[in-house]
Amino acid sequence: MTRPHRMDVPRRTKIVATLGPASFDERVLTQMIEAGVDVCRVNCSHSDHDAIRRQVALVRRVSRTLGKPVALLLDLQGPKVRVGRLREPLDLATGDLLTVVMSGEEERADGRVGTTYPQMADDVAPGDEVLFDDGALAGVVERVDREVTPAEVHVRMTEGGLLWSHKGMNLPGVEMSTPSLTEKDVADLAVGLDAGVDYVALSFVRRARDVVALRRLLDDGGRDLPIIAKIEKPQALEHLDEILQVAEGVMVARGDLGVEVALEKVPVFQKEIIDKAYSAGAIIITATQMLDSMIRNLRPTRAEVTDVANAILDGTDAVMLSGETATGIHPVAAVETMDRIARDVEQSRFVRAPALDEVPVPPGAAGTLIRSAIYAATKERCPLVVFTWSGASAATASKGRPPGPLFALTPDPLVVDRLALVWGVTPMRIPVVQSVDDLIAAGEEALLASGALHGWEVVVILAGRSPMRRATYLLKISEIGADTGGD
Ligand code: PEP
Repeated sequence: MTRPHRMDVPRRTKIVATLGPASFDERVLTQMIEAGVDVCRVNCSHSDHDAIRRQVALVRRVSRTLGKPVALLLDLQGPKVRVGRLREPLDLATGDLLTVVMSGEEERADGRVGTTYPQMADDVAPGDEVLFDDGALAGVVERVDREVTPAEVHVRMTEGGLLWSHKGMNLPGVEMSTPSLTEKDVADLAVGLDAGVDYVALSFVRRARDVVALRRLLDDGGRDLPIIAKIEKPQALEHLDEILQVAEGVMVARGDLGVEVALEKVPVFQKEIIDKAYSAGAIIITATQMLDSMIRNLRPTRAEVTDVANAILDGTDAVMLSGETATGIHPVAAVETMDRIARDVEQSRFVRAPALDEVPVPPGAAGTLIRSAIYAATKERCPLVVFTWSGASAATASKGRPPGPLFALTPDPLVVDRLALVWGVTPMRIPVVQSVDDLIAAGEEALLASGALHGWEVVVILAGRSPMRRATYLLKISEIGADTGGD
């Protein structure tokens, strides 16, 4: 068989872009997707229902116009805690006593502050740490007064500063009794599902049961969407193994994680999360402040470029842009920069190349076949073509990190979009067929028509639960463009 001289491999690491005022524009979004965005994140913390619907519709329209699959990730706010509204910011000196009143969000002007966390007075005890404004201000609970109505928590400030209205509040060591899904999450989810998102991310996951609660809600609505658990609480790190048993993916949510744990612990936790998630076969997104200075500047810092590179070397599936594309002044340049970094790093010899028996595959024949396909594509240094119904075989094959292109061919348009998040996968749509010969012919046509395999001849073909009426397991090394039936 003819061997390729050079592998024309697309970028493998996927790029997630958070939508916001800077990117909610057809022209800008078109440029961002052309520059390499694979997934758009709708951030429910900053989107009302109308904005959720309009963001989803815009992404779908631009994606169809460009003919490029883009996955939509709905990021639920979860039990994010905030201080209430303040008429004036509070000027707190280190050593001051701040009274937090269980009075909700309503505005106060009495030198005290409310909170959106009404259970706080029941959950905290003297000595617990309380952080405000992403850790810019800090204090320790000195006394809890449950006799008054509403109850009060008195916090001795250990790090003073200006406390502004509605800023975030973190309580890292506290077992919070807040439900994992708020009323807002349930309402946002219904809107997101109706609009047609592909993934749901849940913030402030603490245990597997938080993910299970979301799964129940999806099941009740008859929807089978993958869940991304955002790992940003110390409790989630403690329960990571059980969370990985119930979530299809994780996000290393370094923004809140860096407030909830000591900052210097974030790099090793990132490696720990990526390592465990890889072994569990989960999708991994590494997020927050990756190219933060590009919110303001055209060029990132060396440290940021190195951070993106290191996340890729750690083995993440995707890298995420937050403020850079949501509110920054250079959203397109941020995507272009990430694309360039990923392409360059992916050529490096330091990229994760898992041993075949380390690749997490399902038990039984399907798993054996996927491992064999990864072996064949690596050994032959040729593209791997996976026929897939649900996308699962393609996602598993991706965990083998094959060195050549990885094409996933499916008749399900929802799976095409969903696979846009998975490392290394180029998804394409084919029709439903009745036989192996028709399947391979349909795949060949799609690959040649798209130009994806132009100049290539040898491919490894894998069909697990293939897009035919009956389940067939197939592994074949064949030539595209030649007679594929005869060897
Ligand atoms: C994070 O905290 O890192 C994160 C991704 O979540 P959000 O942007 O919703 O705060």
